[in-house]
Amino acid sequence: MRPLPSVEDLGEGVWSVPVPIPGNPLGYTLVYVLDTPRGPVLVDAGWNHEDSWRALTAGLEAAGTSVSDVYGVVLTHFHPDHSGLTGRVREASGAWIAMHKADADLVRGFARIGADEQRDRQLRRAADSGASAAELERLAETAPRFQPPAPPDRDLSDGELVDVPRRKLRAVWTPGHTPGHICLDLEDGGRLFTGDHVLPGITPHIALYDHEGGDPLGRYLASLAQLSQIPDDTEVLPSHEHRFSGAAGRAADIAAHHEAKLGELAGLLDGEGASLWELSAQLPWKRDWDEMEVTSRRMAAAETAAHARTLERRGQAVCGADADGVLRWRAAGAAAARDAVGP
Ligand SMILES: [Zn+2]
Ligand SMILES: [Zn+2]
Repeated sequence: MRPLPSVEDLGEGVWSVPVPIPGNPLGYTLVYVLDTPRGPVLVDAGWNHEDSWRALTAGLEAAGTSVSDVYGVVLTHFHPDHSGLTGRVREASGAWIAMHKADADLVRGFARIGADEQRDRQLRRAADSGASAAELERLAETAPRFQPPAPPDRDLSDGELVDVPRRKLRAVWTPGHTPGHICLDLEDGGRLFTGDHVLPGITPHIALYDHEGGDPLGRYLASLAQLSQIPDDTEVLPSHEHRFSGAAGRAADIAAHHEAKLGELAGLLDGEGASLWELSAQLPWKRDWDEMEVTSRRMAAAETAAHARTLERRGQAVCGADADGVLRWRAAGAAAARDAVGP
């Protein structure tokens, strides 16, 4: 577990408040606090846990303010390590909650569907991906119960200025890690809040959970390319790890990492086809596939799915369901050659 850094005054009315994510190897979310005449605006709020709440409220006190004075919370994206405490902050202060409309629509959808249907969908997707009956049973037992984030009050669009009195904070839509992920450009301070889009040492999780749902990796690579114009001396304030500069270089490194993974996956595809689980078992991960818990396998398979979808969009892969309904991925050229032979 990473040690929790201290609350820091970053100058020009910006503070960094690390909020722990208990039991998670990521360690903490960096919540940023912007002073305004109407009360502080938070960039993200942190995980929903009593220890996290204590760290957030104590951090605000250290910054010379209080949770009851919060004017607004702008979320980089809907994930629970960012959005978990927003409902509680709003209750304590009457603050507004803002996020990009693509994530806001997802959050409203989660609230409509409910936790049971969420779990059932997760199980159906794992079955489509080639999980065994025993793995599905284990997944049903161990998958954490989904808690939908608090619904937002304000939906943001790309390029919109966030309501931060006497400051210029602009939403920059960077879809990929989630459909509505945004970076926040503090134009009066030469700083860029990058959420989970670009982190200094970790490559963010890019996954396709809904097999119908688009090309998240393709969108992510396009969002990374957007950062190529960021001046090298712009201070980058990410949501995890630590602050850094050189956003363009880091974005290029992350893009190269995904291109290498795309090449590796393309190399595994043949004319026979393989399920996402079979393909994932052959790819390198931080932990060996054989030692992975089924919840981690599900996340790994969703990353493989995102890469397979990008290969499909590039004309290198095709996908079809077998007799059991399991999706099998094949090399596009091999499939064309096989179909051309015909009966
Ligand atoms: Zn995230
Ligand atoms: Zn995060």
